Amino acid sequence: MKAECPVCGAMIELKEGTIVGELLECPDCGTELEVVSLNPPTLKEAPQEEEDWGE
Ligand SMILES: [Zn+2]
Repeated sequence: MKAECPVCGAMIELKEGTIVGELLECPDCGTELEVVSLNPPTLKEAPQEEEDWGE
């Protein structure tokens, strides 16, 4: 199962057992990606953790 990196267009092999919401890193551009769908396999750029979650 492969999904396309939305940042650089690389095809990334998803491991068996990958679930929606899982985070992975693109081996090509190093961007952190989130699995948003498995059918079809779709990735989006993971939200940056720069927000203030504590408030
Ligand atoms: Zn990439």
